[in-house]
Amino acid sequence: MFTEKVKQLLNEQIDKEFYSAYLYLYFANYYVEQGLNGFANWFTIQAQEERDHALLFIKYMQNNDIKVTFEAIGKPDAELKKHMDALLAALAHEQFVTASIHTIYEAAYEAKDFRTMQFLDWFVKEQAEEETNASSNIKKMELFGSDSKGLYMLDQELSARVYSPPSLVL
Ligand code: MG
Repeated sequence: MFTEKVKQLLNEQIDKEFYSAYLYLYFANYYVEQGLNGFANWFTIQAQEERDHALLFIKYMQNNDIKVTFEAIGKPDAELKKHMDALLAALAHEQFVTASIHTIYEAAYEAKDFRTMQFLDWFVKEQAEEETNASSNIKKMELFGSDSKGLYMLDQELSARVYSPPSLVL
């Protein structure tokens, strides 16, 4: 019932989610170096969420007897010169991931693969939230980031984020 195209795209998505986790750990590390531990906390938790996404794709494939292959994870390549750079790169990356999820959805739709469509519904919604969060961080940085007290307060706010497991259970 699964087309080769859908199977391949699902497999590639695992790699993209792990890359996302790796990218966000790279951002977190940058913020640690900058002394902004709240920003670092936010991205460390984001990385945990991305790992969870990858595990959900793996689980979905295993549950449906689709062979999982483990590909190489790329090196994060964003250049970070200003505090804003990681935030902008994060939004661009989430938009890329959204497009990727939509591409899988399109392939599943064309194949009348309703099971994969239903699985992906959660990710479609999740991506909307990810983009909102990434945009929100940029807006806050634009408003408060140029002032040292504002930056301190923003860092405090981001330090309050706590990890919670995904609401999707397979
Ligand atoms: Mg993700």
